[in-house]
Amino acid sequence: MKANFLHNKTKLVIQAALLVLIITLLVIGAFNKAHTTDFEAYCPFGGIMSLGSKLWMGTMSCAMSENQLFMGIMLVIGVILFGKLFCGYLCPIGTVTEWLNKLFARFNISIVLKGKVDRILRLGKYVLLFFTAYFTITSSELWCKKFDPYFASVTGFGTDTVLWAGILTILVVVVGSVFIRFFWCKYVCPLSALSNIFTNILISAPIVIIYLIIRLIGWDMHIIWLILALCLSGAITEIFRYKFYSIPLLRVTVNHDHCTSCGLCAKACPQGIDVYEYDKVTHPDCTLCMDCVKECDEDESIGLNQSKKTWIPPVILGGLIILGVILANNFSFKTLTERWGNYETLQNVKSIELKDMRSVKCYGSSKSLYLKLRRIPGIVGVDTWASDHRVHIFYNADKLSDIDVKKAVFTPSKYILQKFGDTPSDLLEIFEIPVNGLWDVYDNYDLVRMLMKNPDIVGLKTDFGEPVLAEIYVVKGSVTPAELIDIIEQKSYTRIIKGEEVEVKVDFSCEGKGRKLGEINYPDFRKDFFAAYNQEFNNYQNYNLADLKVLEIDFPDAESTLARRELRYFTSHVSEYDGVVRLQTVFTDRPVLRIYFDPKQVSAEQVEAKLTSPKLKVFQSNGDIIERDNVLKFAGEVRINNAQ
Ligand code: SF4
Ligand code: SF4
Repeated sequence: MKANFLHNKTKLVIQAALLVLIITLLVIGAFNKAHTTDFEAYCPFGGIMSLGSKLWMGTMSCAMSENQLFMGIMLVIGVILFGKLFCGYLCPIGTVTEWLNKLFARFNISIVLKGKVDRILRLGKYVLLFFTAYFTITSSELWCKKFDPYFASVTGFGTDTVLWAGILTILVVVVGSVFIRFFWCKYVCPLSALSNIFTNILISAPIVIIYLIIRLIGWDMHIIWLILALCLSGAITEIFRYKFYSIPLLRVTVNHDHCTSCGLCAKACPQGIDVYEYDKVTHPDCTLCMDCVKECDEDESIGLNQSKKTWIPPVILGGLIILGVILANNFSFKTLTERWGNYETLQNVKSIELKDMRSVKCYGSSKSLYLKLRRIPGIVGVDTWASDHRVHIFYNADKLSDIDVKKAVFTPSKYILQKFGDTPSDLLEIFEIPVNGLWDVYDNYDLVRMLMKNPDIVGLKTDFGEPVLAEIYVVKGSVTPAELIDIIEQKSYTRIIKGEEVEVKVDFSCEGKGRKLGEINYPDFRKDFFAAYNQEFNNYQNYNLADLKVLEIDFPDAESTLARRELRYFTSHVSEYDGVVRLQTVFTDRPVLRIYFDPKQVSAEQVEAKLTSPKLKVFQSNGDIIERDNVLKFAGEVRINNAQ
């Protein structure tokens, strides 16, 4: 007799619905980039890792959401009290694995590994969990994204995935599923190992408690030892005992007074468990999927806790998910909390809340903000909530006002929106418009893209104000302030993302009608907006300018992102000569590169040769020298001048 794949319709419907949902969201995201789904935000494994990171480092992993965190907590509660429900019903990899396995089962090429090979291979997932947990918890970055087959699939091998590792793990899932029953889940999946550790709660809980006591009594024991102890305890229990020390609230039970040992339940079990050999199924792979119970026709022979209430596991799972969503919507965890200076002893500490800080979107960007704030006298603390881009800044109210703090935090910016290659003598008009909703660099990017659509709008400068002041440079007589306000107050604009047109919603509003600040000619505008680069090295300050020469050459791409990044390496490259002491880019009547050198130590020809070296020699702080391609492009003839 063959087991019927369709007997367990509840599980089938849940699995199919989830896969359809994921595929639908993927298709929607593929056709409309504005509706791309963040699949990572619902991964409970990331949530548990993030919780570990929060407890150890005091920070959440980048891009982690409360949704993910509470899904992780619900998964842990579910596993401890009931079993591996997530694996049985929700895990998309588990579903694909199970279906592939069932599809190929008819060709009799799929086997269930048993005995020593099975037990030894089970160690693999604990090894992977150990490294994943260690690197994630100690870095606040989800390390497993590099190779996670789910993440690689739903992001189309996004930037966080290492291509070969993503392809390899997808191959392991697919090929493994075809030939070996649940190869990924049993032997590779770190979430499976983590679930088993929580199932093994009567061993895991004492380990955690001992670790906490050790830390409480003052021994600064690193978390790696806790991770190692938990992984070892899970692996040893699973491999040697083949069942866990668990709280058995729900178990598949077999009544041998009624069981005929026909084996149908074992055939139905996707995990390949010999169900009928148990009184209570304590096998580490059981996910309470209920396939075995649904398959059996003999009354009272098999059940869930000796009943036929097979609806209990999916209902519990649904309840846990709903509870997780409710909690996620009512709690928000800080991404970063820092206090410094004399925060503890200050009498008059106040805080301000800044909302819509879109550039605060993860732990890394929170840390950047913290480093910036630390340099501002009078500011003594910061809390960030990356999930809703919110920041609390603590300051000494005897020294600073809330306006001072906002001003110090604000970054004035300049953007050239159009370039005229032939440096025309056109006059530009400058209009100042206060803009609500313009604060963060990401707001600036939106406004830049909106303004750039008009070729007569040439530049944008932002300056602190409440609201922020936008200085907009336009070709004289071409655009009025009223037209600028119409552009700024559009509710959306379109932009191209990965070759597709995407509608982006925005919410700027202007105060007043705008005013004219003055006029400027185009070359002066370019000089004012030029993003100059300047590095002094090799004891530049010890030289008299009169003793130095300057090599100058046109550098048309000086302001490009690529050039600005590569200039750091180029600086290291030219610093090889002790007599080369400064490198800068300036706008004369066009962008140029200048290299200052001492002609007594190095010749102009030697310096010039550096410009065209095919490889840059980069000197590392640890003494190593690396080489990278020289991609900088200069134009025209080299000019040698006296330094001024
Ligand atoms: S529990 Fe039911 S399906 Fe399984 S062997 Fe016994 S009678 Fe057959
Ligand atoms: S023993 Fe039953 S409930 Fe457990 S995994 Fe197998 S079929 Fe599902």
